[in-house]
Amino acid sequence: MAIQRTFSIIKPDATQRNLTGAINAKFEAAGLRIVAQKRIKLTKEQAGVFYAVHKERPFYDELCDFMASAPIVVQVLEGEDAIAKNREVMGATNPAEAAEGTIRKEFALSIGENSVHGSDGEDTAKEEIAYFFSGLELVG
Ligand code: GDP
Repeated sequence: MAIQRTFSIIKPDATQRNLTGAINAKFEAAGLRIVAQKRIKLTKEQAGVFYAVHKERPFYDELCDFMASAPIVVQVLEGEDAIAKNREVMGATNPAEAAEGTIRKEFALSIGENSVHGSDGEDTAKEEIAYFFSGLELVG
């Protein structure tokens, strides 16, 4: 498997409950290296651009409000097969369906307030990283 980079967000529900370190420990234990990281607060408009793919979904407005409700931590994770590995460590979107030991099983509050985002493919990973980070911020 090749070394990949993926984009990750620790969402408002998790930053508000002081779970940044606990979530990062899960990534690192799984062999994912945090090669870039910053804490920011999105406007609703910026959240809307990031989640534009979900524009037609009934939960879009709620999702954008939630993502702009408190600070988030945006990250680039690197490792072997990082995109799939991160999705595995995150667990299913709905915490009720997430496997034991996953971040969402342990920490998520609901299908909306589900603690983490992770890219779902190589193209989205590249786009999402470029939306939040400049090349100078990716130090490896
Ligand atoms: P992910 O790739 O596992 O994050 O899931 P999706 O790409 O399907 O959805 C993106 C995000 O939208 C999820 O992580 C949730 O925060 C939110 N979301 C998805 N489905 C629902 C829903 O039915 N209700 C609400 N309120 N939010 C949802």
